[in-house]
Amino acid sequence: MMITVNQHFIDGRFVESHGQETVDVRNPATGELIGRSTRGDAVDAERAIAAAKAAFPSWSTTSLEERKRYLQQIADALTERMDELVATTVAEFGAPPLFAGYIDGQARDFFLLVQDLLEPENFEEANGKAVITRVPVGVAGLLTPWNGNPWFVCGKAAAALAAGCTVVIKPSELSALEARILMECFDKAALPPGVVNVVNGPGATVGNTITRSPDVQKISFTGSTKVGKQINHDATETMKRVTLELGGKSPTIILDDADMGKAVRFALTTGLINTGQACIAGTRILVPASRLDEAKAALKAGVEGLKIGDPIQPMVSHAHYERVQSYIRKGIDEGAEVLIGGEGKPEGFEAGNYVKPTVFVGVTNDMTIAQEEIFGPVLSVITYSDDDDAVAIANDVEYGLHAYVYGEDRERARAVANRILAGRVMINQLVDDPISPFGGFKMSGFGREFGIHGLQAYLETRTVFID
Ligand code: NAD
Repeated sequence: MMITVNQHFIDGRFVESHGQETVDVRNPATGELIGRSTRGDAVDAERAIAAAKAAFPSWSTTSLEERKRYLQQIADALTERMDELVATTVAEFGAPPLFAGYIDGQARDFFLLVQDLLEPENFEEANGKAVITRVPVGVAGLLTPWNGNPWFVCGKAAAALAAGCTVVIKPSELSALEARILMECFDKAALPPGVVNVVNGPGATVGNTITRSPDVQKISFTGSTKVGKQINHDATETMKRVTLELGGKSPTIILDDADMGKAVRFALTTGLINTGQACIAGTRILVPASRLDEAKAALKAGVEGLKIGDPIQPMVSHAHYERVQSYIRKGIDEGAEVLIGGEGKPEGFEAGNYVKPTVFVGVTNDMTIAQEEIFGPVLSVITYSDDDDAVAIANDVEYGLHAYVYGEDRERARAVANRILAGRVMINQLVDDPISPFGGFKMSGFGREFGIHGLQAYLETRTVFID
């Protein structure tokens, strides 16, 4: 079925796009044409910003009860469309079905969870000689990537709206079909006009207009470090508050007391989340040198057991497929050894953007494949001598988003975790916790999302001294 997306959601209604460039949407698994989207331009973005600005005075002074009611209405609208949203996430970006169901369900849940935070003490408290009031910062520009677009849009929008901000959302240009369903849900939820606005379009026009506008006070961006740097730069002139959730190159440290079979299963799970198209993927597997042979055998067997089609899904686009291939070639050129996988498409899956799940061994931490974010199913095994060496290698990378530690002795694993420079460290488990802080160290960005930390990112602090 062909779906056309040629409207934006601005000021409480669907409007024709001023920008007229159209692009095809293809299913990355088959190459089939499934949609066409019209990209907005700076004029569309300006209209959305104006609507959000006009809606702010009223929305920012709504009661917490009123906001809860509207947030619930958005959650209800998403629940009604959930099956379609999941199917679209699979078709448009090639997410594994289980993963798509999970992230889209959680996209809805963000609007439920945030309601728990709408309590007076989170907005006002006595402190010293003053009363601290937390007030919504203004219009928030929310810019998202394609690898789970509903999840990013909803996580940000739930926190921003709960805080009392009005929002201008620019979803990834690779997510127009998913964005269409979200727009229809926002419409169904019937918030006051201008509180939520969604403009499809490219970063260089729609995105830029939002990040440079004097009428936008907050930017929450999830995407690449390269674009994050540009956004931070663009936001400076108007002194916007900025949250940047950027790239990662996360380590999975297998300690030398680990059960290797279990540890490798864990490492493959963390490394291949969303077929590696995940900022939190554990793409560097750190293995004790003394146990390399055992790890290699388990990794080879583990990857051989993976099914192409599900859970191994295609790359989002042909361009991204080519990018991942270039990294595999680079790994070979720089002297790493392909344990399993390698260049080209898996047999029988030539029509889609599929990459063979690939594990490199003989990788040193200075190689490109150990340092740069590949964003595909390409894992690097790096050996270490002792715990100090493992920590040093884990931290010797420009990113610091996530890390994983696997070992029998929990105290020791905890001690290793405490030395890792990353925003989240998971020990022996891949946990989902949408109320604990999420965000990066170093070039993985700054600011935190989720829970009270995520809410506070949309609030400004006013200290009032009462005589
Ligand atoms: P991207 O940086 O290319 O694009 C992200 C968004 O920014 C898109 O909506 C894009 O249109 C927009 N954009 C591009 N240039 C812009 C500009 N100059 N001004 C304003 N907006 C602009 O990222 P992507 O390819 O969509 O997503 C993959 C990247 O996202 C990876 O690097 C991944 O690690 C990162 N990511 C990070 C997290 C996290 O939470 N830390 C989560 C998921 C993805």
